[in-house]
Amino acid sequence: MALDLESLYTDLHRHPELSYQEHRTAKIVANGLRSLGIDAIEGIGRTGVAGVLVNGDGPVVLLRADMDALPVAEETGLPYASAERGTDGDGHDVPVMHACGHDVHVTCLLGAAEALAGSRSEWSGTVVFVFQPAEEFGTGANEMIADGLYDRVPKPDIVLGQHVAPAPAGVVGVHAGPAFAATDDVRITLHGEGGHGSRPEATVDPVVMAAATVMRLQTIVSREVAGGETAVVTVGTMRAGTKSTIIPPHATLGINIRTYDSDVRDRVISAITRIASAEAAASGARRDPDIETFDSFPVVDNDEAATERVLGAFRAAFGSERVIAPGPVTGSEDVGALATAAGAPIVYWLLGGLDPQLFTKALANGTTDAEIPSNHSPFFAPLMHPTLEVGVQALVVAAREWLGA
Ligand code: ZN
Ligand code: ZN
Repeated sequence: MALDLESLYTDLHRHPELSYQEHRTAKIVANGLRSLGIDAIEGIGRTGVAGVLVNGDGPVVLLRADMDALPVAEETGLPYASAERGTDGDGHDVPVMHACGHDVHVTCLLGAAEALAGSRSEWSGTVVFVFQPAEEFGTGANEMIADGLYDRVPKPDIVLGQHVAPAPAGVVGVHAGPAFAATDDVRITLHGEGGHGSRPEATVDPVVMAAATVMRLQTIVSREVAGGETAVVTVGTMRAGTKSTIIPPHATLGINIRTYDSDVRDRVISAITRIASAEAAASGARRDPDIETFDSFPVVDNDEAATERVLGAFRAAFGSERVIAPGPVTGSEDVGALATAAGAPIVYWLLGGLDPQLFTKALANGTTDAEIPSNHSPFFAPLMHPTLEVGVQALVVAAREWLGA
């Protein structure tokens, strides 16, 4: 019956699936849970799966893994690298890769399910295993909740989970309080007046308007956010035009925002709106820009008391030297929605996943940011061992903190 974590992981890595298309992964998960004697419910929030292991009285612990991959062409050169392609939401044919390590999360959670199912005499309570779709859209957790997750499985007293991160394999890291940033995507459509490239005086050029807007947006973080506050504003897409001789009628900007505090978030969004409108007016636009907000993730706010319990359990299991203080990260996660909807505290930690030798070398050279591939990179290549073993153990140790030793 024993799960072979390595072959499970390499199989998932070879066959990544885009958000809400995790059909094969969901099947593997459901079959895996059932093979361990755990009830599995499929199709929650489209492709989500939940397993329930009831083992006497006691708290309900929810352990969560996300399942989706990204439209990235893998360049790791690993023997089990992905060569898969998929169709994204806009109908485009795209490469697909587990560039965020969600295959690590799925493997570790199945490993934890096996360990907990195999040690029932040692603990008491209920464990809910949630395999969530579409984390990368920021909507999968809410989709499962909207589809009645908590009518079908017991509501948790604690939500636990982990994300593999560019830290040395073998370590875990937890930050109490706001740990993962809130993120918002904003799309701005700037309206100009198109015309011939030779006669700019007869047009309102949205390309120049967009360029001025991008530069002015840089002043939000430097001039409107206090030194002790944190915000990131990144213009990730800028689109206009079809041909150099044509001044196009519109330009669009895709902007991503990261914050830890709702006041800062609101201030940044209102500054973006103000700047876009003012730059359009400065260019003589006859129409105000359209500004849409979407793909929002709330902040992941690790409960202070519950985090202390997990930290104590991790130090006892792994030794203090392997429990690092990562501080808050600007990455975002929708896992908090599972806790909010249940009115439960959450503890979400980082699982080191990369070759420790790479770190020693990069640290010595002072080149960690340049040399260590981070999540979403085509070179992101978690080291299988000991990452998988530590990831399984971290879930079990944290869960047992509530379920009893
Ligand atoms: Zn990701
Ligand atoms: Zn991720």
